[in-house]
Amino acid sequence: MVQLKADLHSHTTYSDGAHSPAEVVQMAHRNGLSVIAITDHDSVNAIPEASECGRDLGVEVITGLELSTDVDDKEVHILAYFMDVNNEELQKYLSFFRDERFHRARRMVQKLRNLGLKISIEDVMEKAKNSAVGRPHIAYTMVDLGIVANYQEAFERFIGDRGPAFERKIHVSPQSALKLISDSGGLSFIAHPGFMKEELLMKLINAGVDGIEVIHPSHNENQIQFYRGIVNQYCLLETGGSDFHGGKKMDNENLGKYYIPVTQLELMRKMVQRSNS
Ligand code: AMP
Ligand code: FE
Ligand code: FE
Ligand code: ZN
Repeated sequence: MVQLKADLHSHTTYSDGAHSPAEVVQMAHRNGLSVIAITDHDSVNAIPEASECGRDLGVEVITGLELSTDVDDKEVHILAYFMDVNNEELQKYLSFFRDERFHRARRMVQKLRNLGLKISIEDVMEKAKNSAVGRPHIAYTMVDLGIVANYQEAFERFIGDRGPAFERKIHVSPQSALKLISDSGGLSFIAHPGFMKEELLMKLINAGVDGIEVIHPSHNENQIQFYRGIVNQYCLLETGGSDFHGGKKMDNENLGKYYIPVTQLELMRKMVQRSNS
């Protein structure tokens, strides 16, 4: 039997992805995926367009989201699926997070200007449009303005975590993100845990996440086996995907290469039904 593939981690122009929701779904279709979750940072606004395109092409689109939280100065990303996107509290939080991202982008641009660079928040917002603005938009704007030679240089010299123009995002605890997700009927997963220490992973499991992202381009085979072991040991769910942002050759090749079987998705659906009944 053919194994149906689900990529449950991707981004569009509604956050820091390079492609529109319809383009992402079309590329997913071309690359042999049956299911894709759109998991933009702090936004669910891509879902209607993606779902419509998915219906036309026979690709199932799962409602998703990626939230940034932090624990003791370490950024922890939480993936969410199956939330009710019309949930008022969720909508309120997401627009608050997006506003905060805008204020932060403005502070970062001010820092760049203080360093003598000619860049304005208008330049950045022209790139970001109405999306959840983030450092990738600032990096691409800096490339366009000729301030840096490439995307990576922007992070290395200016906006990386230790760069002179870096600003933190607003503090959100994983606990409040998990509550927001479960209150809106969704499931929460620890995103790309390869970036965190095991102790933190255990803290998040104790805080009540529903699962872990086992498959991710940043994970090697040992890590995949390790996280799968944890999923089994603690009776959690497994997710995975390409973390597709687009715009880079590597990213485009990853779409279709990092996936979970749809049988895992069925387990998620059962869990959603159980939690919401
Ligand atoms: P933000 O949420 O605005 O802090 O942006 C985070 C995003 O910036 C990450 O998801 C990466 O795509 C990108 N990023 C962060 N640090 C680096 C880095 N050192 N080099 C390249 N990209 C980075
Ligand atoms: Fe991103
Ligand atoms: Fe992430
Ligand atoms: Zn992501």
